[in-house]
Amino acid sequence: AKGGDKGTWQRYQPELHTAMVRRLEVRAALHDAIEGDQFRPMYQPIVDLHTGLITGVESLVRWEHPARGLLGPFHFIEVAEESGAIIAIGTSVLRRALAQFARWKADDPEISLRYVSVNVSARQFRTPGFVDLVRQALADAGARPEWLLLEITESLVLRDADQVWADLRVLRAMGVRIAIDDFGTGYSSLSYLRQMPVDVLKLDKSFIDDILTSEQQRTMVDAIVTLARNLDLAVVAEGIEDAGQRAALAGMGCPYGQGYLFSKPVWPGEILELAQGVPELV
Ligand code: C2E
Ligand code: CA
Ligand code: CA
Ligand code: CA
Repeated sequence: AKGGDKGTWQRYQPELHTAMVRRLEVRAALHDAIEGDQFRPMYQPIVDLHTGLITGVESLVRWEHPARGLLGPFHFIEVAEESGAIIAIGTSVLRRALAQFARWKADDPEISLRYVSVNVSARQFRTPGFVDLVRQALADAGARPEWLLLEITESLVLRDADQVWADLRVLRAMGVRIAIDDFGTGYSSLSYLRQMPVDVLKLDKSFIDDILTSEQQRTMVDAIVTLARNLDLAVVAEGIEDAGQRAALAGMGCPYGQGYLFSKPVWPGEILELAQGVPELV
C-alpha cells in the first residue's frame, strides 16, 4: 500500500484511482443515458412568502440509472459539464420544462403558476446558437417567453461579459427572464449588479441557514433584499427549512422563497395538487 519509501505513495493513490475510474464510468454511461432518454426532471415550488401561493417551479434533473436507481445531480452534473454531455441534457431539460408547463396551464387555466425556472450551465449557455435554441424550444412547446426563467451563475455573468450580456439582452427582449443562481457565493461586486441584465436574484441557502442564529448573516440578507428592491430585482431565498426563517425573510421584505418548508422537489404530476392548496400563512 502507501509504503514508506518516497515516491511510491505518490504513484499509488487508491482513492484517486477509484475516483478517476468512477468519472470515466459516469462519462461513458452518460452517453447511453442521453441516447436512452434516462433523465427525469423533478419540480420544486417557489412560493410567494406573503400569500403562500406557488408562483413558479424550478426544474431539477434526475438520472434514472438502469442499475443504480434515481441519481441526483451531485452524481453526474460535474462530469457532464466536463464532457459536454450537459449540452444535450440541458436541452432536453429545457424542452421538457416548457412542454410540461404548457400542459399544467392547459390542465388548469386558473393555476397560480406563472413560470418554470430552468438551470443553465455556463458551458450550455456559451454554446453557439443557445439563444436560437431557446426561441425554438418556446415555439415547439407553444410556450410564452414570460413562462420561462433561466438560472445562470454569477461567474458566467462576470466572465466573457460582452458576449454573455449581449445574449442576455436578446433573451430579455424576447420576454424570457434571467435569474442569478446561488447569489452571494461568487464574486459579483454589488456595484456590477446595477448594470447586469438580470431580473431575479436567488439568494444561496448558505445565507438562509444561519439567518436566525447569526446577526451578521441577517444584516447581510437584509442589505441584499433592500438593494435588490431598489434595483427592481426580485429575490428568491433558497433552502428555507423552517417557519422561523420564512418569517424573518418575509419581515425583511423578501418576496419569494423555496425550500423543504414548502415542498421538496416532486414529480410533475404532483404539482397541480400543490399549486391548488394554499400553504398556511405564518
Ligand atoms: P440549485 O440550482 O442551487 O438547486 C437547489 C438545490 O437545493 C436542489 O438540489 C434542491 O433539491 C435543494 N434544496 C431545495 N430546497 C432545499 C432545502 O430546503 N434544504 C436542502 N437541504 N436542500 C434544498 P438538487 O436537486 O440536488 O440539485 C443540485 C444542483 O444541481 C442544483 O443546485 C443545480 O446547480 C444543479 N442542477 C439541477 N438540475 C440541473 C439542470 O437541469 N441543469 C444544470 N445545469 N444543473 C442542474
Ligand atoms: Ca438553481
Ligand atoms: Ca440555487
Ligand atoms: Ca444553492
